[in-house]
Amino acid sequence: MENIIISIIENKEITFSILFFFMLFYVFWQNDKREKKMEEREERLLENNRKLIQHTGKITEYIHKIGQSLTELASILKILKAELNHKLDIIGDLVKDKSSYFRLTSYKLNSFRISQYFELSEFESPDSKEVKLSPKLIELLEKMREEIRKPIIINSGYRTPEYNRKIKGYPESKHMEGIAADIRKIEGLSIDEMAEIAEKVGFDGIGKYDWGIHVDTRGSSARWDYRGKE
Ligand SMILES: [Zn+2]
Repeated sequence: MENIIISIIENKEITFSILFFFMLFYVFWQNDKREKKMEEREERLLENNRKLIQHTGKITEYIHKIGQSLTELASILKILKAELNHKLDIIGDLVKDKSSYFRLTSYKLNSFRISQYFELSEFESPDSKEVKLSPKLIELLEKMREEIRKPIIINSGYRTPEYNRKIKGYPESKHMEGIAADIRKIEGLSIDEMAEIAEKVGFDGIGKYDWGIHVDTRGSSARWDYRGKE
């Protein structure tokens, strides 16, 4: 036996063959290991990719949902605004004879025209954006605007009682009833000229101030001149 082994070892060809075989085996084995590692890495990469896609998918889904909600909200607001415009007309007509007023709340929704020259927002109380506005007041302001042929700037329209207190307004102020407006002095017109026009179109209460005039539809005549007193 020993002799055989020795003779094999002594036989160089066989020895090389065996060595070559082991080398070959080793190379294949290593290669296989490397491939397996690469496969594992690929698998991990794919898994990460899958997670990433899932994640972005969710984000896209949320963005899509937000977009849908915003579109819905916009259409609701559009309907609401149309509805309000419609209601305003009806309420405006209904209460006109009773010289009453209509009332609206909600910011932004007041930003629409209620007559040829005026937007409801011009009359809202600065604190809460609440508005009470007599159709009669608007009617006379429109007439005044036609007479003057220049923009009328409303310094103060409706005031909530809280806001009136805050700015130390007259405690019985007609502004709290939605029947009064303070008009800023108009370029090229004197306070007296403005008051005359207010008189002509039929305002009940007319007050003269350095900053402009106060007009209202209180139902009885009232005149005052506070120029140089404020
Ligand atoms: Zn006033």
